[in-house]
Amino acid sequence: MPSKSLTISTPGEKNPTPMAEADTQPARPQKVGFVSLGCPKNLVDSEVMMGLLARAGAELSPRAEDADVIVVNTCSFIESAQQESVNTILEMAGLKTSGRAKKLVVAGCLVERFRDEIRQRIPEVDAVVGTGELQNILSATGVVPVVAPNKSPFVVLSTRAEGDARAAQGRFSRGQWDGAIADLPNYLYDDETPRILATPKSTAYIKIAEGCDHPCTFCIIPQLRGQFRSRRFESVIAEAERLAQIGVREITLIGQDTTCYGEDFGLKDGLALLLEKLAQIEDLRWIRFLYAYPNKITGKLLETIATHEKLCSYMDVPLQHASASVLKRMKRGGGAEVFLRSIDKMRRAIPDVTLRTSFIVGFPGETEQEFAELCDFVREAQFDWMGTFSYSDQEGAGAFDLDDKLSLAEIEWRRKHLMGIQRQISKKKKKALVGQEFDLLLEGSSEETDLLMEGRTAMHAPEIDGKVFVNEFPAEAEPQPGEFYRCQIVEAHDYDLVARIL
Ligand code: SF4
Repeated sequence: MPSKSLTISTPGEKNPTPMAEADTQPARPQKVGFVSLGCPKNLVDSEVMMGLLARAGAELSPRAEDADVIVVNTCSFIESAQQESVNTILEMAGLKTSGRAKKLVVAGCLVERFRDEIRQRIPEVDAVVGTGELQNILSATGVVPVVAPNKSPFVVLSTRAEGDARAAQGRFSRGQWDGAIADLPNYLYDDETPRILATPKSTAYIKIAEGCDHPCTFCIIPQLRGQFRSRRFESVIAEAERLAQIGVREITLIGQDTTCYGEDFGLKDGLALLLEKLAQIEDLRWIRFLYAYPNKITGKLLETIATHEKLCSYMDVPLQHASASVLKRMKRGGGAEVFLRSIDKMRRAIPDVTLRTSFIVGFPGETEQEFAELCDFVREAQFDWMGTFSYSDQEGAGAFDLDDKLSLAEIEWRRKHLMGIQRQISKKKKKALVGQEFDLLLEGSSEETDLLMEGRTAMHAPEIDGKVFVNEFPAEAEPQPGEFYRCQIVEAHDYDLVARIL
């Protein structure tokens, strides 16, 4: 899972965008700096904690070095993410030791996994805040509201039968983890929860669900995030409307599994219904969702995407593997044939669909034959975007106890080999786009060179896909980040594109 340091100032703006006005004034404002690691779901948690702090009167600093209190919101998805989290905590501990910061708080998934160990091994850490106790960020940082909020920002929702059954089977058990508290996280923010957006001003994530009931044997996210639960339909719509009012034009719906949305309150095709409703919000221009579970993609969902122009023709379906035997050991089901039929269905229903997926290579016992099946599948499926993770052993995940672990060198070879196949596919696909016209959301100066600007088309989800560099504007145009332009693709690279604004 990608990791990213947080910038809390919105590009082009001096101040972050508040989702709710501060309703209390602190006696002595504290300056709090955030470093947010991991995925967009973790980013939304950071935004909620920043919103709670801002409402309580804290000043937020985009630079940890300037802050009185530093919060590191950690990721614990795989070993490399855990290591990055630990390194960041140690780096921030250095700021405290040098006297620049007075307090260090660690939040997020790493806390759910190593709560006691963090405090014992890194004494500079003053407080920890798990993924289910974000409201405790106020006491953890020492920022206490003068007037206590009259409403808890968190709504505890019911879970669904499938999750209860998995709980009974021990799916969410954390008993073998030293220091993990027994209570699973069970809250969800709602539309009244204050939130400070950390994304560029035109784009925002909305978390529509939290937790996961699936039994994937490589994954500990259910133990870190709890059982699957959805936000209320009206709450998501209200939040989207409010975001549109403050200038957000692109919404990306996220959750561990967005395609289960609404199942816990008896909604059938809940995601399709939600998308249909969101598409009615006038000021929104692009709406998409990430992390679809393969067997949850219904005809109604595809039809809904095809019908509404504002719903991006974009499907992100992490398949994890294509060999039926590996998928069985992963406890996911499916296989190359089933997936190819499903992809064909998606392409027939949404002819201009952009398909993204991700795989795990080097799962315990993955034979050369099974890996070859995956490679053949990738050649045949012709994805627009693809990511590959190396299998990472996680204590507490079902696969941890499996035999036949592959060497790190072999896993890395397989990852590079698979990405090499995709590179060729991507290169061909990007080349075919040269000459075509698209709408482009201009994001600002390129991170690689000040000479170019960069943006995204509807084919590019924020952060994860390739880039579109802009090398030419009409003479009279004043390029405005956050605005949409019509562009023509003039050059293609393996993953990135170059466009001129028309
Ligand atoms: S669907 Fe599987 S991989 Fe994704 S969060 Fe749930 S258990 Fe983990």
